[in-house]
Amino acid sequence: MSAARIVFLMYHELELAGRKLCQSEPGYVRYILPLETFREQMSWLKESGWRGLNVSEALRYPPEPSVCITFDDGCETDLIAAAPVLREFGFNATFYLTAGFLGTPGYLNASQVRDLDAEGFQIGCHSMTHPYLSDLREPDLKRETVDAKLLIEAILGHAIEHFSCPGGRYDPRTLQMARQAGFVTVANSRFYSNSVRTSPYELGRVAVLRGLTLERFSKICRGGGLWKQRLQHRVRHTAQRLLGNAGYDHLRAIMLGKKQ
Ligand SMILES: [Zn+2]
Repeated sequence: MSAARIVFLMYHELELAGRKLCQSEPGYVRYILPLETFREQMSWLKESGWRGLNVSEALRYPPEPSVCITFDDGCETDLIAAAPVLREFGFNATFYLTAGFLGTPGYLNASQVRDLDAEGFQIGCHSMTHPYLSDLREPDLKRETVDAKLLIEAILGHAIEHFSCPGGRYDPRTLQMARQAGFVTVANSRFYSNSVRTSPYELGRVAVLRGLTLERFSKICRGGGLWKQRLQHRVRHTAQRLLGNAGYDHLRAIMLGKKQ
């Protein structure tokens, strides 16, 4: 019926003046936006008549111009920085939490998770310990999906439905385990927009990277230029397959380090 395509945006920790980031390596910081940049993006969306939706809302694929807003990792800035901005503009979002990081320095604690939930934002799961799921044997995979889901649900006191893959890595086993765990959707970080025809277990997401101009951001929201990023992804994916995840990360760290 509706031919709506929706881009799912992927955010991480936000940078606040005087607050130390959870991690400092270049490969991590690349995904971190200063709070002001995030606010500018949300402000642009609002002024341009866009809506900001959580995953459940986005899956209804409304015909009005909309983006889905998601955050990975469960950093404390979800509550203290992102949530107030989202509220200001009347947007919702899905926050995927790494269950095993909760309560550690820089990440949300249980009571902050409940606050985020009570404010009406959607809580999802981003594994237990943030490994590449495609590298894991079955018992570990179970812990990262089933146990992580139960832990977050125990904090919230209600069920959660949405999962996102750490580092975007997944394979058919991963998706099957997530389904068995009771997740209704799985989001990755592949560069495509989603529509009613997209499998809910392979929702594409576009990473919003540090240094992105507002012009590029608006283009991404319209789904423009994603083919170029898909092509880059394919090159990276081939390198990952050839080198293995560990070898690839090593190479990437060297290359990003040199760029600094
Ligand atoms: Zn992550």
